Amino acid sequence: MSETADVVIIGSGIVGSSVAYHLAQAGCTNVLVIEREAHQGKGSTGKSMGGVRAQFSTPVNIQMSKYSIDFFSKFDDVVGHPADYRAHGYLFCATNENHLAYLKANRERQHALGVTNVEWVSPEDIVKMVPQLRVDDILGGTFCPTDGFVDPHSVMMGFMLNARERGVRLWLDTRVIGIEVDTGSAGVPPAFVNASAGGTPALPVLESRRIAGVMTTRGSVSTRVVVNAAGAWAAEVAKMAGAQLPVEPLRRQLVPTEPFDRLPKKFPMVIDMSTGFHFRREGKGILLAWNDPQETPGFKTEFDPTFIEKILTRAASRVPVLSEAEVNPRRAWAGLYEMTPDHHAIIGPAPNVKGLYFVNGFSGHGVMHSPASGRVAADLILYDRSELIDAQQLSVRRFSEGRLLEETAIL
Ligand SMILES: Cc1cc2nc3c(=O)[nH]c(=O)nc-3n(C[C@H](O)[C@H](O)[C@H](O)COP(=O)(O)OP(=O)(O)OC[C@H]3O[C@@H](n4cnc5c(N)ncnc54)[C@H](O)[C@@H]3O)c2cc1C
Repeated sequence: MSETADVVIIGSGIVGSSVAYHLAQAGCTNVLVIEREAHQGKGSTGKSMGGVRAQFSTPVNIQMSKYSIDFFSKFDDVVGHPADYRAHGYLFCATNENHLAYLKANRERQHALGVTNVEWVSPEDIVKMVPQLRVDDILGGTFCPTDGFVDPHSVMMGFMLNARERGVRLWLDTRVIGIEVDTGSAGVPPAFVNASAGGTPALPVLESRRIAGVMTTRGSVSTRVVVNAAGAWAAEVAKMAGAQLPVEPLRRQLVPTEPFDRLPKKFPMVIDMSTGFHFRREGKGILLAWNDPQETPGFKTEFDPTFIEKILTRAASRVPVLSEAEVNPRRAWAGLYEMTPDHHAIIGPAPNVKGLYFVNGFSGHGVMHSPASGRVAADLILYDRSELIDAQQLSVRRFSEGRLLEETAIL
């Protein structure tokens, strides 16, 4: 093998870029990031809505957000490139007692974990923020002023440019086509120790399996550490090393309106809890989002034009003036969420392949959690532990051990 690296990162989206940045920050710079596309950001990162929020329901997601939002607020100075963090807030609007109880419990948990600026708001407060909202059925809500938006492409580029300034290498237009795993048995091809005396295939002794390198369309690279940062394609990459990863792609669609001045120039991300419809300003127009419960898993990245009517119905019901907004279907787009069974990320070592690390399954939160996930992954690779969170919680082992975490505040 002509190339070697201490760490190979597969995928240069916002997550792989953050891992590269955090490794380089810690002095680990013999790192190679491999991206199959000719440009960064062609995966989910370039499709994201850019929302960042601390208003989650589980402690680990709240902790990841707290670290990440603080990081975004200093990003430009620390990383040396802009993140375009806009602290416009997230406004959750409750329309029944269950929603209120849910927001109350979340707010207490957020407060206990140091997110002390989540405010209770009345329908009157809500109307002050967005006068065009229909509030006759809204009982109240919560607002966190440091939630808001970033530009995902800028964050990704900032992380990667900084890492490259420190010596990290990036190979674009290069696909990883295999992962070489050393089984520890001399003379037997890596990862294929499976012929028993009777000719029946037998699995290799799992604990002795260890990363040896990656095969790419540009040749082989020898390494002892591989980071799977392949987003919605992460399960395929894990399989190359004989590992299983419960990550499924799920289409997610966004609809921008044409320039629209009937809503304020600046207002928070507004979440209508009765339908899950949410929206924010994007430049001169409004960006509309809704999680269609009829969507089924699969690598579907085409925008479905029938989605427009579904989302506009929900939009006009909550914000009547939006019925006057114009929408050009050609400007709408679809991308992939990378879903796990409990809607939490999977971060940490693969149980059966030494040297393989997962940073996957963000279930729609990979942009907002990119600073924390890069930091935790780098900590685990370099020190085997992280002071930021109890990383065991996010280990892939939780699925086989029945320790699922349930996040209900998913958008
Ligand atoms: C419509 C939409 C809206 C969203 N809104 C938000 C939001 O508001 N806030 C938020 O936090 N998150 C949001 N998300 C989710 C967020 O975009 C993702 O969680 C995040 O971008 C994941 O980043 P990533 O780097 O893991 O994956 P990606 O950006 O998909 O990067 C993975 C990369 O791996 C590469 N790759 C895959 N296989 C290989 C291979 N074999 N060899 C080489 N390269 C490979 C791909 O080409 C890709 O570039 C949204 C997602 C969508 C689709």
